[in-house]
Amino acid sequence: MNVYDSERMTDVLRPLGYEAVDAPDRADMIILNTCHIRDRAAEKVFSELGRLRLVKEARAQAGQQTVLAVAGCVAQAEGREILARAPYVDIVLGPQTYHRLPEMVARAARAAGAVIETDFPVEQKFDFLPPEREVPEGGAAFLTIQEGCDKFCSFCVVPYTRGAEASRPVAAVLEEARRLVAHGVREITLLGQNVNAYHGEGPDGATWDLARLATELARHVGVERIRYTTSHPRDMGDDLIAAHRDLPALMPFLHLPVQSGSDRVLAAMNRGHTAQEYRDLVARLRAARPDLALSSDFIVGHPGETDEDFEQTMQLIRDIGFAQAYSFKYSPRPGTPASNAGAQVPEDVKDARLQRLQALLREQQDAFNAASVGQRVDVLFTGRGRKPGQISGKSPYLQAVHVEGPDSLIGQVAEVEIVKLHTNSLGGVLTGETDRA
Ligand code: SAM
Ligand code: SF4
Repeated sequence: MNVYDSERMTDVLRPLGYEAVDAPDRADMIILNTCHIRDRAAEKVFSELGRLRLVKEARAQAGQQTVLAVAGCVAQAEGREILARAPYVDIVLGPQTYHRLPEMVARAARAAGAVIETDFPVEQKFDFLPPEREVPEGGAAFLTIQEGCDKFCSFCVVPYTRGAEASRPVAAVLEEARRLVAHGVREITLLGQNVNAYHGEGPDGATWDLARLATELARHVGVERIRYTTSHPRDMGDDLIAAHRDLPALMPFLHLPVQSGSDRVLAAMNRGHTAQEYRDLVARLRAARPDLALSSDFIVGHPGETDEDFEQTMQLIRDIGFAQAYSFKYSPRPGTPASNAGAQVPEDVKDARLQRLQALLREQQDAFNAASVGQRVDVLFTGRGRKPGQISGKSPYLQAVHVEGPDSLIGQVAEVEIVKLHTNSLGGVLTGETDRA
C-alpha cells in the first residue's frame, strides 16, 4: 500500500511542477514514506533521516533548498518525536492527509517551523486525488479499494495509524480501474488492510462486496488478472470463494494470513477464528479452485506463546502447505494491548522458533517452485531482466520468471515453459503463445 500511496503522492505533486528523480541529492523535495508495523521498520526511518540530513546540508551549501517530508504510519504514530529527534524535517504527514501535500508544501515554504498533519480528516483523500495516474510500465498496477481496520488484533498498530475501516465507492474504483486498463494495465492488485472486508457503496445504492467488485472488474472493465491483498480469514465469505471458482481472471494465489496455529494464541491475538476454522476454510477454497496456492503471515513469540503453541503452528504449516510466506518475530508496538501483556517471550526463544519456522516454510516454497519446472505458465512480463536480452515477469503464483525475449513483450502476457529452478526465481523459454488472455 505504501507503493500505491507513494505513486499517488507523485500524482498530487505533478501539477506543482514536481517530477520524480532517481537520487536524493537531485531532489528539491524528499519524501520518506514509512512503515510502523514493526519496531525495526520504524527505527530505520531515523537512521535514514540522519543520512538525508547530510544530503540536505550539502545541497544548502550549494545554494539549493530541500523540503524534507516524512509520510506514512511512522509519521502518524510518532510525528512529534520525529520533529524532536530530527528538527530539520519540514513536513510530517499521516497516511490519510497526503492529498493536502500541495498546501503543506506552500505552508512549509512560508512558515518558520515544520508543518505537521496527522489528523484523520473528515474528507476522504481519494476524493481529492487527481483522477489521472502515472501508470508504471510493465502492465501491473496496485489499486487501493479499502483502508484501515476495526479488528484490533492484540499486536497490530494498523487500526491506530491507518484509522477505521473504510471502503471506496464502487464507481470510484471502477473508474480508476478503467483508466488503468486504457493505459495498458493487465493485472490489478486490489489493496486494503482488510481487503476482503470491502463493502463499497454501489452505483445501484446497494453495498457491494469484494466478490461482486471482482466480477465486475473481470467481466465488464476487462481486467485480465486480478489479485487482492491482504485478506482476513474471518471475511472470506461464500461469494468470494465462489468467485475463485467462477472467475478465471482471479489469480489462483491467495495471501491469507493465519499468524499462529494455536487456538490459545489466536484467541490472545483476538483473531476471531480457530486453527481448525482456518483449515476448513482452506479446504473450501481448494475445493472451489483446485490449483489455488496459498501464502500467509506468521508471528512467532506473541506474548504467552509456549513451545506447545509453537509446535501447533508448525503442524498447521505441515498440514496446509504454503507456496510462500512472510514470518516475523513478535515486535511490541507502543499502544497495542500485547505490548503491555505479561509473559513476553525472550528474544533468543523467538530467534530459535523463527529459524525453525522459516526452514520449514522455505522447504515448502522450494518444493512448490520445483514442481513448476516442466510446466507451461502464462507470464506477465513486467520489465527487463538482469542479463542483456532477458525479460522478467510474474507467473500466476507471483513467482519471478526470467526468459530470453524481446522488450516488446514487456507489459504483455505470454506462455512460458519453465525449465530451470533458481534460488528465488524460475528460468523459462517462450513457447510462442502470446497474449491469449
Ligand atoms: N491485515 C492483515 C491481517 O489481518 O493478517 C495484516 C496486515 S499487517 C500490515 C502485515 C503482517 O505484519 C501481519 O499479518 C503480521 O504477521 C505482521 N505484524 C503485524 N504487527 C506485528 C507485530 N507487532 N510484530 C510482528 N509482526 C507483526
Ligand atoms: Fe492489523 Fe490485520 Fe489485525 Fe487489522 S486484521 S488489526 S490490519 S493484523
